Amino acid sequence: MKGRLIHKDDIIRLVDLLRKDRRVIAPFEGKGRDSYFDEVTDANRGAVALHLPNPYYPPKRYVLPHIQKLFHISDGGRPSVLEIRDEPQVAVFGIRSCDLEGIFHLDRFYLGNTFKDNYYEALRSRLFLVNMVCTDTERDIEDDCFCVCADAGPAARNHFDLQLMDLHDASGEFIAVAGSPAGEALFSQTFFHKAGPEHVARRQNVLEEVRKRFKIATSWYSAATKFITQGGIKDSTWKHIGDRCLECGGCSYVCPACSCFTVTDRKTGPGTWERVRMWDACALSGFTRMAGGHNPRKAVHDRRNRRFFRKLGHMFIQKEFAMACVGCGRCVRVCHGDVGMPTVVEILRRETSTTEATERP
Ligand code: SF4
Ligand code: SF4
Repeated sequence: MKGRLIHKDDIIRLVDLLRKDRRVIAPFEGKGRDSYFDEVTDANRGAVALHLPNPYYPPKRYVLPHIQKLFHISDGGRPSVLEIRDEPQVAVFGIRSCDLEGIFHLDRFYLGNTFKDNYYEALRSRLFLVNMVCTDTERDIEDDCFCVCADAGPAARNHFDLQLMDLHDASGEFIAVAGSPAGEALFSQTFFHKAGPEHVARRQNVLEEVRKRFKIATSWYSAATKFITQGGIKDSTWKHIGDRCLECGGCSYVCPACSCFTVTDRKTGPGTWERVRMWDACALSGFTRMAGGHNPRKAVHDRRNRRFFRKLGHMFIQKEFAMACVGCGRCVRVCHGDVGMPTVVEILRRETSTTEATERP
């Protein structure tokens, strides 16, 4: 591990350095529990927050925007297609380990196959990620967080350019770890200084203490994966879960690992249109409705179970190397029906017996 130290008062110098040649997005505190990611400017740079509840919206929109223009179409004689390719360099400063793992899932989905998504790749190739490890047990970690169960945190093992972690001692030092050559190049700056074995040991101690903070400490994910993969979940169980879903789509919109989108054309002026893609959610009835109006998954529970097949099914885990849930806890916080991921995993375990699951052909 290549580690350096940076004092908390110097972290803004790191942010300013990154701002010299790219847009820097960082977390800020809002009112009450609220927090949000926004671009750092001269006016707000002093308010960049190091410890705060993770924003409801993950920073995935900087690599997969809510609404993304794909191309323009004009009607001047022959339709002409103009590709949009002018993306700035972006650094996301303070991305949490769970959200970092979420971006890895998007990478697997959009870039991990023979077909590569050029629009995603254009944004992703310009993204620099500074991971902030959640170490403040009061501010950073909430009761619904379960990254430890999802093996996504509290300290990310990879996928970052630079990782910062508060050592929570009187020195005010953060330990920095480089995850890419671009991250390591920053260590030539004078505000980074050498770390010793005592700092690495302190890092381990902090992580061990932090792990005790997680309330959802054990998980039944392996059972849920087994039952889902074997097709052993009873219809009545999915119906029970579906009955609690209000089809708001919130769980998908806040999920850092959800990757679904829809594509539509919209008029922009006389004889001109643009094609856009937008986030979509499997809970919404339009998600599976076909052009002729037929919907093969009309019942809520028939759509609701898709989310959990997709996130926990073994065939998807094989493709993406991990379940598509990173334990951020956001779906727990937004769901009106209390059918966020940990609740569903618990319902599946409780209502499915091993015998029923394994008796299936
Ligand atoms: S947040 Fe809850 S109620 Fe809304 S779509 Fe998701 S499961 Fe359904
Ligand atoms: S399924 Fe829920 S807990 Fe898991 S990554 Fe998505 S929003 Fe977070």
